[in-house]
Amino acid sequence: MNILQASRGAGRVVGRFAPSPTGPLHFGSMVAALGSCLSARAQGGDWRVRIEDVDTPRSVPGAADGILRTLERFGFEWDGEVVWQSSRTGAYRSAFERLREAGQVFGCACTRKEMADSALSRDGTRRYPGTCRLGLPAGRVARAWRLAVPAGPIHFEDGVQGAIREEVACEVGDFVLLRADGLFAYQLAVVVDDAEAGVTEVVRGADLLDSTARQILLQRLLGYPAPAYAHLPVACNLAGEKLSKQTLARAIEAAAPAQVLVDALAFLGQAPPADLAVDSLAAVWSWARTHWCLDRVPRCRAVPAPAYA
Ligand code: GLU
Repeated sequence: MNILQASRGAGRVVGRFAPSPTGPLHFGSMVAALGSCLSARAQGGDWRVRIEDVDTPRSVPGAADGILRTLERFGFEWDGEVVWQSSRTGAYRSAFERLREAGQVFGCACTRKEMADSALSRDGTRRYPGTCRLGLPAGRVARAWRLAVPAGPIHFEDGVQGAIREEVACEVGDFVLLRADGLFAYQLAVVVDDAEAGVTEVVRGADLLDSTARQILLQRLLGYPAPAYAHLPVACNLAGEKLSKQTLARAIEAAAPAQVLVDALAFLGQAPPADLAVDSLAAVWSWARTHWCLDRVPRCRAVPAPAYA
């Protein structure tokens, strides 16, 4: 029994894939789609898809439809309707108001420029120095709203990466929930959406490992149950950079689906038979569903995938 199976209660397993529509699917996102889907299906669970377009300025027109079409062409079948974050502002607002009424949120006047000297946190954002935590400086108005992060470590057992400990207050500081441009932050949106969809396990790329402690903290403050987590290695190029639009990763829209899925299975340590891709897409899925084993996934944060870089 792996950690995902051990940590679930008696209820139905619900997994999800939550792409941001910033460009076409590349091999790395296909790995996350496949791993999350197989993990849920192997336990007889549901698998849902959510388009993470909360950050509307970063969303690329047409990208979400392209992602959904590619998933269908690759033989993915999701349960229920696709959830679009851009239509869920009301749910984010009510969670935000609950935190605000509980005194856990404060207005912040600091500009990016004013924080330029703060230390960098692990994910490359500026660690908040606490300037407005006890009240706005005279004559300043709130631009963004931050969570007053309580001191103390967050511990969790990741299904792939093992025991993780993070002290959010020291390593990230008070993070933004409502941005200066009026949009709710990804960290809040993801927690509200996962809770509302009844998600019991989050299987995604290890680039999001540094977000997880913040999300667990928000789940606790909002009284939501904590899902189990498993962070899969991300696909990188030979320079060790995560495949992305920025690294000009190959889009897989036009690639042969059976071969890409077999390559993704091999990337995830599942050792598919060499000739599996010669068979139909249905045969690849059938093999994958019966052979999926989370314990075989390499226990590291990144693995090169030069053929797709
Ligand atoms: N939208 C995020 C991404 O595409 C994934 C978020 C998640 O799985 O929690 O990187």
